[in-house]
Amino acid sequence: MPAKSSDPGQLWAAALGQLQMQVTKPNFETWLKHTSGLAYKGGEFIVGTPNAFVAEMLEQRMYSLIAQTVEGVVEDEVEVRFEVESSFVDEDATDPEGSTEDEPFSPPHPPPVNSGGHVPSLNSKYTFKNFVVGESNRLAHAAAEAVASDPGHVYNPLVIYSDVGLGKTHLMHAIGHEVALKGMSLIYSTTEEFTNAYIRSIREGTTDEFRDYYRNEDVLLLDDIQFLIGKEQTQEGFFHTFNALHMTNRQIVLTSDRPVRSFKSIIEDRVESRLSGGLVVDIHPPDIETRVAILKTKLEGNGHHYPIEDELVFFLAELVHKNVRELEGTLHRVIALSNMRGEPANVDMVLRAVENEEVVSVSTRKLPADVVIGAVAGYYEVDVERLKGRRRDKRTSLARQTAMYLLREESQFGLATIGQLMGGKDHTTVKHGCDRILNMINVNPSVRRDVMKIREELDALQ
Ligand code: ADP
Ligand code: MG
Repeated sequence: MPAKSSDPGQLWAAALGQLQMQVTKPNFETWLKHTSGLAYKGGEFIVGTPNAFVAEMLEQRMYSLIAQTVEGVVEDEVEVRFEVESSFVDEDATDPEGSTEDEPFSPPHPPPVNSGGHVPSLNSKYTFKNFVVGESNRLAHAAAEAVASDPGHVYNPLVIYSDVGLGKTHLMHAIGHEVALKGMSLIYSTTEEFTNAYIRSIREGTTDEFRDYYRNEDVLLLDDIQFLIGKEQTQEGFFHTFNALHMTNRQIVLTSDRPVRSFKSIIEDRVESRLSGGLVVDIHPPDIETRVAILKTKLEGNGHHYPIEDELVFFLAELVHKNVRELEGTLHRVIALSNMRGEPANVDMVLRAVENEEVVSVSTRKLPADVVIGAVAGYYEVDVERLKGRRRDKRTSLARQTAMYLLREESQFGLATIGQLMGGKDHTTVKHGCDRILNMINVNPSVRRDVMKIREELDALQ
């Protein structure tokens, strides 16, 4: 070990090294990575942040963790303060109006032909133009455009798969708009509607008409086919329709929020093999740039322009990262709050809007207790009963205290609750366990690595 430094930069680097082990990777990348140690004197440690939002966030949500870590490093009591580092401020100030002014105004896409007959009802906002392309959805977007430009001949069927709220329906409608503009016929249907119509046709003895209705179109857009899981009869109807359309090169587009392979045991083999014959593309959660771009599109779209500072948009995009629908919802709540108070949107409104949702990643994630306990038990190969029991051999104690620590950090349980969850322990025992692990993380590389590995496993479950 080198001699102890009093240089704030080095001290903070050491603290960061430890913080990296203690917070999730996205948290570290978002909030801590671009900070610096500015000064340390008179019991005060000043941390430089790239902007006021990061400062506020660290102050509000990570203060005690950071203070504790810095105290561990400097081996003394400290007050931590966060200050915006001026070099960053200057950079941001070069574009006072924000970059939005530079982007050419684009008029809204023409509304879809939405009148009568078989023309489905499509959301007029769900166009290719309004779809922000990033790494996470590039492939799905390209495939959707290809299909829209030459239905029936490129990928058939096209299956778009992702978790909820990531743009499947949007892309599907976008295909629909393009197809309608070409003057081709299409049907957009949720699988639920499809199922209901099919069941009705069985009841009314009109299954032939049902099939004809769907078969006579150039394009069939069937949204959320995971709905077919467990519905044997509808799968049958789906297969016949699918087959008829596919044989005649009509375009089929399907979306699902379950991986296609999970249909294997559920949909008959023949359907599955035809599904696999087309192209399956997936959409991942968007990266930060894409999230910012999506928010800006939403702010400027629909004919209204709602001014929210660029930095605030970025801040919001950092907070909500798994689901575009949530991202939009939070933005709408911010706008509502701002309108209600008659003030421009600010950090407080964003935090308030976000707090309504369990989407924040900043030290407030709430993993179920049994998931955390299970992960720790699995990692240390100690069974759960033993983990919650009274045996105090070294391995079991370490595993038990790690579980307590992670229950506190990852699931945000209180000490008494953790005591209950861990087989009826006293809250002081829990406190002692948490403190001990925190301390070991600081001084013992192997414990640090263990905790980091378990956290990674938990991250993977998110
Ligand atoms: P899914 O069908 O995957 O559950 P949706 O297509 O309904 O998701 O998308 C949820 C919301 O997020 C919609 O309002 C949609 O417009 C929006 N959205 C998703 N991805 C994007 C994107 N890349 N660009 C613009 N808006 C998007
Ligand atoms: Mg959808």
